[in-house]
Amino acid sequence: MATGKWSKDQAEAGERANYRCEYCDLDLLSSIDNYKLWTLDHIVPKEVGGDESLDNLAIACRMCNVYFKWRWDPRKGAPAGADRAGLVAAVRLHVEAQRIRMAGDLELVRQIVEYKPNPECPIR
Ligand SMILES: [Zn+2]
Repeated sequence: MATGKWSKDQAEAGERANYRCEYCDLDLLSSIDNYKLWTLDHIVPKEVGGDESLDNLAIACRMCNVYFKWRWDPRKGAPAGADRAGLVAAVRLHVEAQRIRMAGDLELVRQIVEYKPNPECPIR
């Protein structure tokens, strides 16, 4: 995670991704809220053999990295031998599917609690 002192990999990965989450396109420099979501993901998780090379690192927002992807191995969703772009594309599809599933969960909770949004809340 960026803390103001970026590692060489953080800086290079950020520049390569134009400072956007590689999985959902969130602009990570557009606000303090977004900036604090900055993480560096191992595309192929370390637990299943992913390495520390820049090619295996992706800039990702905390929601995509921690909540939607976590230790999911994109080789499960990509063609055999997929390159970095193919693996990232597989993660993007996986993240989107997780978002849709979680949106369904949220809608159910809203119905149960008879949720009414606070019109004065500045953050949506
Ligand atoms: Zn994201």
